[in-house]
Amino acid sequence: MTAKVLVLHTGGTIGMSGSPEGYRPMAGFGEVLRQTLRGCTGAGMPAFEVIELDSLIDSANLQPANWVTIAEALLMRWEAFDGFVVLHGTDTMAYTASALSFMLRGTDKPVILTGSQIPLVAPRSDAAENLQAAMMLAARPSIREVCICFGRRLLRGNRASKLRSTGFDAFDTPNYPWLAEIGIDVALHPERLLPAAPRAFCAPAFDAQAVAVLHIYPGISARIVDAVLDSPAVRGLILRCYGVGNAPDADAELMAALARAVARGIVVVNTTQCLDGSVAQGAYATGAALDRIGVVAGGNMTLEAAFAKLHVLLASGGTVAELRERFAESLCGELD
Ligand code: ASP
Repeated sequence: MTAKVLVLHTGGTIGMSGSPEGYRPMAGFGEVLRQTLRGCTGAGMPAFEVIELDSLIDSANLQPANWVTIAEALLMRWEAFDGFVVLHGTDTMAYTASALSFMLRGTDKPVILTGSQIPLVAPRSDAAENLQAAMMLAARPSIREVCICFGRRLLRGNRASKLRSTGFDAFDTPNYPWLAEIGIDVALHPERLLPAAPRAFCAPAFDAQAVAVLHIYPGISARIVDAVLDSPAVRGLILRCYGVGNAPDADAELMAALARAVARGIVVVNTTQCLDGSVAQGAYATGAALDRIGVVAGGNMTLEAAFAKLHVLLASGGTVAELRERFAESLCGELD
């Protein structure tokens, strides 16, 4: 039986056209998309249905609430389809892929995000190729995870980052091998895919202000930490530390500001500014200081995965101790 795939259009360059202010979501894109897909038949192409969200966005405008809209649109139609393709802007695609991976944990169907660097209706577009590859992969029942299909590669969604602003190979997963390479053949690596797991779906109400991100840089002061944590809405703080998770421990006031945050019940986590490699809090005295304060090591999670995971955990409830423990565990392949 031919597989049936739902294509959910949320916005992004793929469905945009030019305007005096630059690219904007174009009217009538749903019909253009249907015609493009109808024109592409043959082995491996599934049957499809296309739906569009009411409000199509440039994904630079994404808010955590949009993750709920997307997840609910999929969950309402879950049983009627064998797989899902989500068309999304590239700017925040890795954040949404990460969020959906935690919200659709234990998915038994492929959920593939894609988009393009050049609109589908423009010359030299990469859209049709990305879309067709995503459609074919969304029809493969062995893929039980949320992925990004872009630039001839299939990537685990919660391992991906946008690394190139203009390249057709915009996304990569520096800490995990590609799930598939798309050439003349689609070389899917079954041993790299997530195994079947029990469904644990959730679409919680997110507080957009709950998670803040703080990049550590030479000269950062306690006042900056206090300013970021000034809002009582902030319940999670992601530190972007140096190398294996080091911070300027010689600044006692800075360390005290972070210790106050932990004591207030803020879940403070440590991620690395490096694209490749992991946090090993304690390899250096500068990292061990964070360990003593009670900062949670984020392993080799991407910023996008850490951000989405902290949002999902905070919105799902639990004590601070439980949240800290859950954050450090791999929930759906996001860290080693
Ligand atoms: N600004 C666009 C977006 O993220 C970029 C893209 O789709 O490539 O929606």
